[in-house]
Order: sequence, then structure tokens, then C-alpha cells
Amino acid sequence: MSLIGGGPAGLTAATYLGRLHRRVRVLDAGRSRARWIPESNNCPGFPQGISGTNLLGRMREQADSYGARFEQATVTALARAADGFEVHTAQGRRWRAPIVIIATGLCDRLPGFDHRDDAIACGALRLCPVCDAYEVTDKEVGILGLAAGPFPHARFLRGYTARLSLLPTDEAGDADDLDGIEARILPAGGRLVFDGRRCGYVVDGADRFWFDAVYPFPGCESSAHLTKAGRGDAYR
Ligand SMILES: Cc1cc2nc3c(=O)[nH]c(=O)nc-3n(C[C@H](O)[C@H](O)[C@H](O)COP(=O)(O)OP(=O)(O)OC[C@H]3O[C@@H](n4cnc5c(N)ncnc54)[C@H](O)[C@@H]3O)c2cc1C
Repeated sequence: MSLIGGGPAGLTAATYLGRLHRRVRVLDAGRSRARWIPESNNCPGFPQGISGTNLLGRMREQADSYGARFEQATVTALARAADGFEVHTAQGRRWRAPIVIIATGLCDRLPGFDHRDDAIACGALRLCPVCDAYEVTDKEVGILGLAAGPFPHARFLRGYTARLSLLPTDEAGDADDLDGIEARILPAGGRLVFDGRRCGYVVDGADRFWFDAVYPFPGCESSAHLTKAGRGDAYR
């Protein structure tokens, strides 16, 4: 069978399937969200924490030990075939598989600014409050996103810190949207910068506000369209 996606979900499935004596080919574009994790502290069995790349490496090694085969490939379409599915990739290769498992996760849309990836690597820019808000307890935290959008995130993060600011990317919001949650609302339309340790929010090229961590919420993309494979058709 073919398994699309080699992140934690796909690799877990590959290990289980290998141990069920199933032959599995993992087709993976190599962009697991977990690769961004500087150090995960909620992963069971790792009380000292573990980085995302280390975790992915170990999980891949485990799946490999039960016979999983790995292909670097981006699946662009699935087509139903008489005996299962035909899998099409951006690299021009095709595979047939009686069963396909889709474990493609999601892909964050990220704000663009210089050294952004370094900011993620040191935890100054964070992408998953459920995963790591504990690490910003009582710290200075910014939430970047649509003015009307960050409200549920503000509610969640307010449980960790009282030093909360909203960094709106548009003017559409209203302080009333916060529904009583205490947070500073900064002027809209600023840009993020990174000084090697912290992210700052610059407004009108002058005022600069610094944070221990900024959580951006510009949304995400996914390969969910692959699930629409219909009989005899390729869906893209
Ligand atoms: C900065 C950061 C910190 C985090 N910290 C933690 C933490 O501490 N603890 C925690 O539990 N979680 C954490 N997370 C969340 C965690 O990374 C995700 O929950 C996890 O990676 C989801 O696993 P997944 O296998 O579903 O998806 P992913 O890890 O995203 O893997 C999906 C894989 O599918 C591939 N793929 C997608 N589309 C296609 C396609 N069309 N063809 C081929 N391959 C495709 C991708 O390239 C990728 O390799 C964090 C995330 C981030 C970004």
C-alpha cells in the first residue's frame, strides 16, 4: 500500500503496518511541520525534550526497521483504478496501490521577514500554542493575525500570560471582539523583525515593540484535495 506523508502520523502508521506484515511505500515531500520544532516537551517518553528533526529521524528509523520503503515525492493527484488507486507525483512517477493512506498534515502560511526560520528555531516565533504555550508562561507574547481572528487564540494564551498583545494585520477588528479578555492592541499593519533573540513588531518604521514570543495565525494549506479521488478521474 502507499502512504502519503512522512511526518509523525505517517511514520506511526508505517511502523504499525510493517508490524502487521504489510508492505508500505511512504511517499513524502519532506516538509513535515515537525521539522520546525526546536524542542518538544510534551512528547511522551522524552522527559528532557526532543527536537522535531531528531524525533522524525527516530520514527523513520523505526518504520524502516519494519520494512517501510521511502520515496521523496510530492503527490499531485490520486485516480481511482480497478484494483485501487493510481498515485501521480510532481516528479513524473506513478505507482499503483490497492490502498492509500493520506497523512499529509498541514502547511503553515508564515509571515515573511528576514531570518524568520532562525526565529522559529530559537522559539521567538512559535506556531502552535497548544504545543508550547507552557514555555511562554508569564512572558511577553504577541499574537499576529487578522484583527477579528486572534480572539480565540487570545483567550487560550491569556491562560498562560497576562502580558499579551494583539498585532493586527488589518483594521477590521474592534476591541469589543476581545470579549473582556485583557490584551494590548497595537496599531495595525506593522511588520515583524528579529534581532537574533526576540521578535519585534515595527509600526510606521518607528515604534518597536519586543516580545519573548510571537504567534502568527495567517492560516494554513493542506493536501486535503487528494481525498477527492473519484472513480476513473484524477483530482488535482
Ligand atoms: C514550531 C512548531 C512546534 C511544534 N511543537 C510541537 C510539540 O512540542 N509537540 C507536539 O506534539 N506537536 C508540536 N507541533 C505540531 C506537530 O509538528 C504536528 O502536530 C505534527 O507534525 C503533525 O504530524 P503529521 O504527520 O500529521 O503532519 P506533518 O508533520 O506536517 O507531516 C506531513 C508530511 O506529509 C508531507 N506531504 C504533504 N502533502 C504531501 C503530498 N501532496 N505529497 C507527498 N507528501 C506530502 C509533508 O511534506 C510532510 O512531510 C509543533 C509544530 C510547529 C510548527
